[in-house]
Amino acid sequence: MSKQDIVELVPKPRTKFIRVKCSGCGSEQTIFSAASTNVKCLACNQEMAKSGASKIQIRTKIISVYT
Ligand SMILES: [Zn+2]
Repeated sequence: MSKQDIVELVPKPRTKFIRVKCSGCGSEQTIFSAASTNVKCLACNQEMAKSGASKIQIRTKIISVYT
């Protein structure tokens, strides 16, 4: 009899708000980690985050993360 321990490291879907700073114009914006669309800077339209399968990819400077 063999016992196999299967450890699953599945991150729980946890949504966060992320404070980012635009690398283009320096303006700050709060974005949602589970956004389903790409996030652009409101001021200069630079892409700040790209939507992915389950979470977004931040493409600019992160200032802080609120959980
Ligand atoms: Zn900007």
